[in-house]
Amino acid sequence: MSGEHLKIGRINKGTVIDHIDAGYAITILTLTGLDKSPNLMTIGVNVPSYKYKKKDIVKIENVFLNDVQMQKIAILSSNATISLIDNFQVIEKKKVSIPKVIEKIIVCVNKTCISNSNKEPITSEFIVLEEKPLKIQCAYCDRIYDIDEIIFGSKEKIEKKATQDYQL
Ligand SMILES: [Zn+2]
Repeated sequence: MSGEHLKIGRINKGTVIDHIDAGYAITILTLTGLDKSPNLMTIGVNVPSYKYKKKDIVKIENVFLNDVQMQKIAILSSNATISLIDNFQVIEKKKVSIPKVIEKIIVCVNKTCISNSNKEPITSEFIVLEEKPLKIQCAYCDRIYDIDEIIFGSKEKIEKKATQDYQL
C-alpha cells in the first residue's frame, strides 16, 4: 500500500471519493450536502499523487452516495473514483462520468433565459462542450459556463457556486 493511503487512514464501511481534482474536496462536500453529515469523515487536500501530482480525497464512514451526488462529483471533478468499502475492503469501484447533457441540477444565471421563467414548465438543460476543463452551454439561451461559474440548484432554490476552495 502506498504512503498516501496510510496518511489518511482506512475506513471500515462507507465511501471513498478519490482522485478529486486538488482543491475541490471541500466544494464537493458542500455541494453534495455531505458537509452536514454527522458521520466520521477524513478529508485530504493536496495529497501527493503519482498520476495527477496532487489530488484531494474524502473518506466517509457509513455513507453511500446517491445518483445526484455522484453526478455533482462528476461535474466538479471528472477524474474522481468512488469506492464502496465494507469490512475494510473495496467491494465496488466506480468511475464517475459526465453525461453529454446535464439536466435539472444546474441553474442558468441569465435572468431572461426561458429556463428561469416561472410561467414555463421547463427544467434547465446544459450541453457539455468540454469535459476538462469543464465548459457547458445552456440549451435554451446558449450562454457558456466554465466550472467556476456553475451554480447548482433549481429555479426554486439556488445553491452555492462551484468555486475551488484552495488555489493550486
Ligand atoms: Zn440559459
